[in-house]
This record gives sequence, structure tokens and C-alpha cells, in this order.
Amino acid sequence: MESRWVLHLDMDAFFASVEQLTRPTLRGRPVLVGGLGGRGVVAGASYEARAFGARSAMPMHQARRLIGVTAVVLPPRGVVYGAASRRVFETVRRVVPIVEQLSFDEAFAEPPQLFGASADAVQAFCEDLRRRVREDTGLVASVGAGSGKQIAKIASDLAKPDGIRVVRRAEERSLLGGLPVRRLWGIGPVAEEKLHRLGIETIGQLAALTDAEVANILGATIGPALHLLARGIDDRPVAERAEAKQISAESTFATDLSSLDQLHEAIDPIAEHAHQRLLRDGRGARTVTVKLKKSDMSTLTRSATLPYATAEAGALIALAHRLLLDPRQIGPIRLLGVGFSGLSDVLQESLFPDLELFAQTSEAQDLAAAPAVATGASVAPSESDMGWRVGDDVVHRDLGHGWVQGAGHGVVTVRFETRGSGPGPARTFPTDANDLTSANPIDSLDWPDYADDPAALRNEDQTATSPPAADDVSGR
Ligand SMILES: [Mg+2]
Repeated sequence: MESRWVLHLDMDAFFASVEQLTRPTLRGRPVLVGGLGGRGVVAGASYEARAFGARSAMPMHQARRLIGVTAVVLPPRGVVYGAASRRVFETVRRVVPIVEQLSFDEAFAEPPQLFGASADAVQAFCEDLRRRVREDTGLVASVGAGSGKQIAKIASDLAKPDGIRVVRRAEERSLLGGLPVRRLWGIGPVAEEKLHRLGIETIGQLAALTDAEVANILGATIGPALHLLARGIDDRPVAERAEAKQISAESTFATDLSSLDQLHEAIDPIAEHAHQRLLRDGRGARTVTVKLKKSDMSTLTRSATLPYATAEAGALIALAHRLLLDPRQIGPIRLLGVGFSGLSDVLQESLFPDLELFAQTSEAQDLAAAPAVATGASVAPSESDMGWRVGDDVVHRDLGHGWVQGAGHGVVTVRFETRGSGPGPARTFPTDANDLTSANPIDSLDWPDYADDPAALRNEDQTATSPPAADDVSGR
């Protein structure tokens, strides 16, 4: 594997950067994207906001306090981030045939043209890739490169912001060895705590243990894999995730189940079995599917998608429970299955806790009021309710596309601008005037040379999605 080069491309402050791209007045300003409510959490922070100490996953009120009055707080616009993400990775795919996309803003690539290349040649390749992404989208990617996925991901972190870090073979062990154990793929807070209690702080200290010691501390399932990674041995291939590979478990009942309570009781061991398989696979899942086979042999499947991949049993099993349907309405159930798909190597622990909360809430509403519709934080209010919120996309007959900069006390202030317009003027209107209607947030990108497929926004196989919602119930 001496000749292999794996790249990890990671967009810089992606959500906040898309806001600054499409709302040019915000360039150079401390922008926070996330939940606005009392328990809201930061999902994205611009570098200007990070300079004050604001970070992702921080409570929004805390980030606001750090920044002060100049903070710009916006609700997430998943559809816009999704469209921007698709264009970024279409650009990458024009240069690299195989891209393993991990989330909206991250991907691994193993360019065949770099096989056996020098570190300098890799550096030049990464510079070209970053230039293409910037020219096509106006967005900044940082790129890390190394002999495997683990080191490439660490390298892209070191490259940020707006940079490249190529880790040569000779420096790999020393670089890895000095990092805290938490930086190792698969080490979460629980494993970190266990290691710390034993005085193991760095990846180098973990690497120095014996196989048996590591298996004893971290378990026989994941221990050996983590020990290899700690020693810099990472042969995991880079592969497209396009195929809908699923890990599942199902059970046929001796007697048909006829109540929702029975289904809730029956699903736990099935979901736990599927979860055990997921753990053995070593990846996390974004999509949970529940399969219900009725006594007449027809099958219903329902699924829901999280904004990030997780291997956390609680989150996945709770989602499976939410997807169940009442046998009193659909008929007795003979077989129940739980599947996990949208599998990814990157396990993100509550990357967007507030989005997740939102998703589950909206989904519960969807389940109660069929047919399910795609709802989420990015949905603009209806024109009739006049309840403009800061961050809403609006359109004015004469002034064009804009976004709500302030609202309240009977007036609404709109900044009329898009990516293409450059910084635009602000105008204030009475809220009850009929000058404004809600607009498609995608229009703020103003990419006339780029046709994004709106149907893709609801396709759960896309790595970039709008905030999740329950899918339609489909009979077969
Ligand atoms: Mg990023």
C-alpha cells in the first residue's frame, strides 16, 4: 500500500459559508447557523464567529453571548446546502472517478492518477481540485492527503482553514502518535473515558499496547480494528456509497401481531439484532427502514433519514419505533423487519443535535397526518400567515429575491441580494403590506449555469438531503 494516496476533502464552515455566499452582506460577519429557540444549538459558525470562540454544537445563547451584538443568527436552510453540496461533489467527480461522500460537506477520494505519485505531485493535484471547487461554486474546501482514510481525515483538519496538508509516509507515525486518542476513528466519549482512566492519552500510547490489552479495554469487536488504526495501518478502501447497501434483521411471528403495543414490544430485539450487525460492520447508518409483512403477504416499508450517520443504538431504535403502523388500521402483521442503510465510515455524535430534534418532531407530525410531506427548518412560512422570520427567503415584484433581516413591531426588513447580485440594499415594509411573498431558498444561489434536480432533494439515497422526513408509505 506504499503507493496509495487517499484524499479527504472537507468544505470550510460549510453551512455558514453557503449563507455568506448567497447573502453577500454577511461576508466578513460572524454568522451562526442553528436553532433559534431557547435550547437551540449551533450547527454552523463562520470563521469570523469562531474567532470569538463560537463552535458547532455549542448552545446558541452561549455563542451569541461570546460574539455580542454583531452576531448574525440564521435558521438552517437544508435545501440550499444540499444543492451547493451536490454541485461541489459533481465538480470533484469530474476529476476523480470514485468519491466516497460522507456528509453534505466531506468526502474521501483515492485518485488513480496519484498512484505512486510524489508528495509534491499530490500537493499540486489538491491545489487544482480546490481551485476547481472555488471556481464552480464560490466555496472553499480544505484537503488532507495520506496513505489511508484515517490520516487523510486528520490531515484535512490540520489543513483548515483554506489549506492543504499532505502527510508524507515518513512523518505519519510521529504525527499520529502525538494526537489525543479521541482523534482516532471510532473512539467516542465512552472509549476515551476508559482509556483516560488507564492513563492512555495519545494514539501513540494506544498503539504501544498489545492486541490483547486493547481487546480487553475496548472489546473484542472493535478493539483490534482500532489498534490497527492507531498503528497507522489503514487499508480500508475508498468506495462509492451510491448502492443502497442495507444491514437488517427480521422476524416472522408464530401468531400474527394485531396491536401496536405488540409491535412496539416485538421490534426491540429485532432492531437490536440489526444494530449488532451494524456494529460488526463498523459503520454508522443514516436511514432506518421498517418492513411490515401482513398476513395477506403484502408488504409495507417505511423509512426515515437522519442528517448524519450514527451507530448509536438509542437514536436508531427510537426512529424504528416511530415508523411502526397500527395493525388495527393496516391489518395483522406476520413479519417485522428493521434495516439500516445510508452506511458511512464516519460516526458523528450529535453533529446537529438541534436539527435532529427538529426532524423527529416534524416527522411525528407527519406520521399523525398522512400523507407525509418533506418539512424542515428551511421551509418558508406560507404567504398568508405574514409571520416572517429572520432568515426567510422572500421575493418582491420589483426588487427581486431577498431575505428577512429583521421582523417585528409590525414591520419587516428585507435585504435584497443573492449570490449573483453582490451586497444589496435593505428595505423595510409594513408586515401587512402585500409586497412580499415567500421564495424558493434555492433561488438565492442564482446559478443560471447549473441545473440542480429538485427531485433529488427528496431522494434519500443522496448524501446531501434536506432535513429528514418520513417517506411515503408504499404498498407492494
Ligand atoms: Mg466541513
